[in-house]
Amino acid sequence: MICELCGSDKNVTAFKVEPKDEYVNLCEDCKSQIESGNLDENHFQCLNDTMWSEKSAVKVLTYRLLKELGRNDLIDMMYLEPEEEAWANAEVEVKKDAYGNVLKNGDSVMVIKDLNVKGGNTIKRGEVFKNIRLGDTPGHILAKNIYIKTEFVKKV
Ligand SMILES: [Zn+2]
Repeated sequence: MICELCGSDKNVTAFKVEPKDEYVNLCEDCKSQIESGNLDENHFQCLNDTMWSEKSAVKVLTYRLLKELGRNDLIDMMYLEPEEEAWANAEVEVKKDAYGNVLKNGDSVMVIKDLNVKGGNTIKRGEVFKNIRLGDTPGHILAKNIYIKTEFVKKV
């Protein structure tokens, strides 16, 4: 499998292009930059090619990245079908902790109150979870396979 953006074969995995249930195969470099939001413009020169992709998910992801990079010159040249454009501009839920800090995949959070979880267990206030996932459940993050409401955590 190769990365559908840059063509690398380094640890390629499927990346969901929210909010649709469609995926783009990404190498670990592309994926980590997209998840962290720290885009390296040199690395993403590949978008010059992927903007002409025939796969909607690739085009939509390319459009969003070009927008983040401020490359309106390239966006103006892209051709998106109306439904692709709606998808590209769809609001993706931004998840925030109890104090309004934006949460991202890979963040560490501290639980700010005792929580009862399934199976009768308790998560103690002050417990820290590393490498959280945002997951697909609105208003929750995924910490070690447990869904926790974002209002009960603090980014650390
Ligand atoms: Zn890549």
